Amino acid sequence: MQKTLEHTRANNRISSECIGLLVRERSKGKSLRQLGRIFNRSHERIRQVLARCEMSQEPLLSEASVAAKLGYPVEWLAQLRKEGITNPVKRGHYWLYSEEQVRQIPLLIAQTRKCERCGKLRLPGYPRFCRECSQYRKKHPYKAFTLEEKAKHIKRCLAWRGANLERWKEIQSRVKRKRTERKQVKSGSQNEE
Ligand SMILES: [Zn+2]
Repeated sequence: MQKTLEHTRANNRISSECIGLLVRERSKGKSLRQLGRIFNRSHERIRQVLARCEMSQEPLLSEASVAAKLGYPVEWLAQLRKEGITNPVKRGHYWLYSEEQVRQIPLLIAQTRKCERCGKLRLPGYPRFCRECSQYRKKHPYKAFTLEEKAKHIKRCLAWRGANLERWKEIQSRVKRKRTERKQVKSGSQNEE
């Protein structure tokens, strides 16, 4: 306690640690004047600090209790916090959430954890798509593109084509050749039947 008080005097600010002490001493029945003497402040200053403290004393919930309340795994909440989606306050080793923040969490999850393809909830560790959609995309890369992605892809292709006209012609003639070869094979096998 002595150390904390010295720190307060040196700083001319009342630290949060001291405010805790102040509130405790006040609740034990000490007068503003007595507290003023202990903290080396005027009784008016002590009154102001206590008043501000009462206003801001909102019940805060720990991450574990928020998780239990919402029915989410606690890792989800940690992940949202790491991604900057939620902004709890840190007190010591704990992350604390106000009731307002807790109310917003389901909405934040719904908004930010949407699969880009189907809109269903995606799990942490899946940055853009839900598990089903990312598997589908692996199997069918182009088919699984969104319209926007398709447009982007086509634009990129056309730009490349413009910049590499010779290569493009080469590729086109090779594709044409392969196509006619395939047709010939097909008609050949049909003739055999
Ligand atoms: Zn999906």
